[in-house]
Amino acid sequence: MFLILSLLFSAINPSIILLIGDGFGMEQMKAIEEKGYPWTFFEGFSVLDTRNPYCGVPDSASSITAILSGVFTLNGYIGIAINGKEYKTVGEIAKEKGYFVGVVTDVEIYNATTAGMFSHLKNRNDYEKIIDFLKKSNFDLFIGQSNLNIEKNFIKIDEEKDYLDYVKFALNKFKNKKPFFLLIELGRIDWVCHENDKENLKKELNKAKKVIEFLIDYYLKNRDFILYITADHETGGFNLKDFSFKTKTHTTEPVPIFSTDKFEEFLINQPHLNREILKKIRGE
Ligand SMILES: [Zn+2]
Repeated sequence: MFLILSLLFSAINPSIILLIGDGFGMEQMKAIEEKGYPWTFFEGFSVLDTRNPYCGVPDSASSITAILSGVFTLNGYIGIAINGKEYKTVGEIAKEKGYFVGVVTDVEIYNATTAGMFSHLKNRNDYEKIIDFLKKSNFDLFIGQSNLNIEKNFIKIDEEKDYLDYVKFALNKFKNKKPFFLLIELGRIDWVCHENDKENLKKELNKAKKVIEFLIDYYLKNRDFILYITADHETGGFNLKDFSFKTKTHTTEPVPIFSTDKFEEFLINQPHLNREILKKIRGE
């Protein structure tokens, strides 16, 4: 009886792991492919257009707002539309629905991508205010870097340790907490692509590969959550063939999105990831 009930509930409110690579465009993603794997594994594949309709090239604030709050906005804005209206984030809605919510990143927890889970402000660099939003969010777990004081539910990453261990720690903590929503960020791909730093990009892509392969294995063992893998935007105009870059800034390339569930529709040209995830969370 309980098993059926819990299955029923998980069918209505599935647990979700959303992996976002910052600056993790199609070419960067292809670099971690091996004989078609892991890409051939996913049921759903599409592309997200997170371009900024007001000035073209997105930053991590406007693109994460498109993804997590479902609205296009100005660069620098998080969880807020161009007219100043606040749009709830997927993380906030999940929390309202009784989900256990966690945010894991290898960079500062108050950077735009993770701030997009719980913040509403017009200045992505107002870290003190983002930490206030973080504390008010009542999320259950935060893992990342911080130079600011965060007492609650926060684990500071030790740079000497393997990032995958923190991902495993978060999964272990959420294992028996259903439903859960976990955002995992790979934040340094963007940084090294800005620098056009080939050696460190190889290191970051290697880290990404380890995390993604672990998540796929974890999915195959458990199959009780939906796994999404995507990016906020592409950085560097990277070309895998000759491992070259075209620019030191972000580009307007659409970014891939993979899902262990089939997509009901092709997602391009709209901030649809939010709608897809909301549909799952709301049980539509
Ligand atoms: Zn960037």
